[in-house]
Amino acid sequence: MLEAQEGSHGWEHQIGSQSRASSARHMLEVRPGLFLGGAAAVAEPDHLREAAVTAVLTVDSEEPNFKTGAGVEGLRSLFVPALDKPETDLLSHLDRCVAFIVQARAEGRAVLVHCHSGVSRSVTVITAFMMKTDQLTFEEAYENLKTVKPEAKMNEGFEWQLKLYQAMGCEVDTSSAVYKQYRLQKVTEKYPELQNLPQELFAVDPSAISQGLKDGGLYKCRKCRRSLFRSSSVLDHNEGSGPIAFAHKRMTASPMLSAGSQAQCTSYFIEPVQWMESTLLGVMDGQLLCPKCNAKLGSFNWYGEQCSCGRWIAPAFQIHKSRVDETKTLPMWGSQTRETGTRYM
Ligand SMILES: [Zn+2]
Ligand SMILES: [Zn+2]
Repeated sequence: MLEAQEGSHGWEHQIGSQSRASSARHMLEVRPGLFLGGAAAVAEPDHLREAAVTAVLTVDSEEPNFKTGAGVEGLRSLFVPALDKPETDLLSHLDRCVAFIVQARAEGRAVLVHCHSGVSRSVTVITAFMMKTDQLTFEEAYENLKTVKPEAKMNEGFEWQLKLYQAMGCEVDTSSAVYKQYRLQKVTEKYPELQNLPQELFAVDPSAISQGLKDGGLYKCRKCRRSLFRSSSVLDHNEGSGPIAFAHKRMTASPMLSAGSQAQCTSYFIEPVQWMESTLLGVMDGQLLCPKCNAKLGSFNWYGEQCSCGRWIAPAFQIHKSRVDETKTLPMWGSQTRETGTRYM
């Protein structure tokens, strides 16, 4: 394997610059035709040409300025702006990153994935690629990559994101509980003042749409029957595993969520719904009341709350199961609904 010598040795441009070996100083071949590197890898067209790289994926704060001319004609490139910080959202970009690599390789191109120093961001993207294409777990793929590049060290936020990527089957499912909880947390980090939340954060108010409930389950206020949220808004979590924050800072155990039963949980943790908006803005915690009859339904806390099963959920939008009834849509008759008679305690 070719080994890049980064850091104190500097870049010895002059020595052996015409040989393939010189490209090894700027990039490392982690798979046949798949290279990992830092900013120096794209600093000169020569470096790309020596490694026969014709596709470049940049995960960095600045887009490289590919010099026109020899070596870069027909170059395919993708730029994903990202800082090497735990709070950076790489997860949302992993699908298109992996697709870019797969597509380029299918066309017989050699691909370079690079960031600034070739240690964290690019390592994260290549680890995701290995997880998906070789069907490896996060740990297997990361260990595998470290045998080729021992200095590889992605930040803890990216580790956490790759574990979520694995939990989603190596494909970002924006409708999954895993992703929704992740996104809520990203929003909390991004909007500390919480005065101006993006509208798409809120699930559509089910009382605003009478027809076409594709996903069946609908939860209504037990007291006044007002529709409150749909089953697709429920963010399931593993129970009984103790206070595990859904936050990279406290990630000591597996953050996997599952669609398992919630027998010990006396609350539903859900994504925010439109009718909550005025309540949620500008304050960190408070009660959630039925928008029609004002009955107390539960509570919210942007910093998080603990479920009765012991699990810590952050941020938390908690509805007591005893305050709502689930209504199921009969699949055969589409929009008709019936009460299930089941009380989910
Ligand atoms: Zn009500
Ligand atoms: Zn629970």
